[in-house]
Amino acid sequence: MRHYARPIARLVDELNKLPGIGPKTAQRLAYHIVTGSRQDAIDLAQAIVEAREKTIYCSVCCTITDTDPCAICRDESRDRTTICIVEEPKDVFVIERTREYHGLYHVLHGAISPMDGVGPQDLKIKELLDRLQDGAVQEVILATDPNIEGEATAMYLARLLKPLGVKVTRMAHGMPVGGDLEYVDEVTLTKALEGRREL
Ligand SMILES: [Zn+2]
Repeated sequence: MRHYARPIARLVDELNKLPGIGPKTAQRLAYHIVTGSRQDAIDLAQAIVEAREKTIYCSVCCTITDTDPCAICRDESRDRTTICIVEEPKDVFVIERTREYHGLYHVLHGAISPMDGVGPQDLKIKELLDRLQDGAVQEVILATDPNIEGEATAMYLARLLKPLGVKVTRMAHGMPVGGDLEYVDEVTLTKALEGRREL
């Protein structure tokens, strides 16, 4: 990258660290930023800093929020007897987009993956167990990703939660195997939610 001016090389390097952004896209975005309006570049930089500085994890469901508890946990119209368990905060938005689910969420912040050295203790499982203490929750829907890590995590949680007397369900098959919840279309996701089976 020695043919870049140093500030552009730095910007390309930073953009290249983002998921889904390869070297070519990083280069294209960097040139777009430095050749576009100065104000647009400042707005982008400030939006990044503000989003990072003003967001926290919800102390109840562990999703990303700018208020604690988050808007979903605070919403009294939500069904408080059901918790949908997802891997990442972005999965909450994916399921909300279906408009079919009206319960609460819990974000694990990952999935069990021995290959990557991620075990149950690295996920927000203790926080989940705390939420089940008072017996108000009747059903836990396991909506971890339809891949090896997501399935392993679902099996682990099913074994952990069933003895607590809570109904444990898994999103139905029909989900693309090996995939990420993020890329599942809304119709498929709605059907998978409706057709969830008890574990
Ligand atoms: Zn919350």
